[in-house]
Amino acid sequence: MKELILIKNGEIALKGLNRSHFEEILVRNIKWRLRDLGKTTVKRAQSTIYIEPEDCDFYDFDEAIDRLQKIFGIVMISRALVLEKSMDAILEHIADYCADELQGAKTFKVVAKRSDKRFPLTSPEIAAEAGGAILRRFPRLKVDVRNPDVTIMVEIRDFGAYIHGGQLPGAGGMPVSSSGQALLLISGGIDSPVAAYMMAKRGLQLNAIHFVSPPYTSDRALEKVETLCEKLAPYTGRIKFYCVPFTEIQEALREHCPEELFTILMRRLMMKIATRIAENDEIEALVTGESLAQVASQTLQALHCTDTATDLVVLRPLIGMDKSEIIHISKEIGTFETSILPYEDCCTVFTPRHPRTKPKLKYVVKAEQDYDFGPLLDKAVAETTWKMIP
Ligand code: ATP
Ligand code: MG
Repeated sequence: MKELILIKNGEIALKGLNRSHFEEILVRNIKWRLRDLGKTTVKRAQSTIYIEPEDCDFYDFDEAIDRLQKIFGIVMISRALVLEKSMDAILEHIADYCADELQGAKTFKVVAKRSDKRFPLTSPEIAAEAGGAILRRFPRLKVDVRNPDVTIMVEIRDFGAYIHGGQLPGAGGMPVSSSGQALLLISGGIDSPVAAYMMAKRGLQLNAIHFVSPPYTSDRALEKVETLCEKLAPYTGRIKFYCVPFTEIQEALREHCPEELFTILMRRLMMKIATRIAENDEIEALVTGESLAQVASQTLQALHCTDTATDLVVLRPLIGMDKSEIIHISKEIGTFETSILPYEDCCTVFTPRHPRTKPKLKYVVKAEQDYDFGPLLDKAVAETTWKMIP
């Protein structure tokens, strides 16, 4: 019995002349994510991608489909039986192959699609005959064309005839890396991993940067962020993860700058370091997990202060979301449990008692210039380490 996986891509289909380019990226992402599951041929035709395992009997279809459901750029996934293009073969196998789906159902319908117009029967004729074969095998079933419990598909395409018992939803969005690359500022919190998910969904490939302040922050806090990256990887693909030593900068801030501006200055210095790391990798955008008014450093005025610390585009996909909506996504994508582990982040180490919620840019810039952070910034960039996750 030969089976394969059929993939339908969504928004890519709207891309006109560029479509082929987007599909190539999607195929590359699919091959990479399934690479360790066994040999497959991945080909595309008629806005469908076909994944054909070399050895169907030993291929872990469930695991493959689970992974495919997390790959952006896919809207529908079906596991299908491959047959020669003959009505006899279809009628012989259809009821058996779809038995699991049909057994639990009361009503069904067959939808036939014939993109190979040389096939002698029309789509309605194929559907009627196939429906008849199913009724002979499951006589208590009824046909319901409007609202069936189960829809069985018969597709006559270029390479063969395919039967499947329905479609599973994909993750939607655009293939990762089709929109370019960005650098994510990732903390151990709930928000920034969700921001990563949302921007990967729009086709960005992500590097991540995390600031640590040992001994104020622990190894476990860093491991927690690495775990978050591992949990994001099924959606984002591999992540180049940078770790920046931030202790000396924070100590200098505490000593030389007005306490109420500590948070906003720290965030500006983070943006400056992130910008230098991004530019080294020829990356043109930063991503943060900021959401308007969530905390003191996320007022309009504070966001303006952080924006002006960089020339890069700053993407804040959570800007208009409530915390409850962010938590909902965080639970769906499986980062929530890790995010709520109680380890100190460098942001919480020297939190001022009364942070300025409406900082004026000119005072912030003045305070920043009153102390020469240049050498410390150079040192932090020089001592930054990176690794690939996973
Ligand atoms: P999160 O839940 O993502 O930690 P938050 O609501 O706690 O966000 P802040 O602590 O103000 O908000 O941080 C805002 C954003 O700044 C984060 O979403 C993240 O993008 C970035 N950020 C904060 N701390 C760090 C850090 N230690 N390393 C890298 N980026 C950070
Ligand atoms: Mg945080």
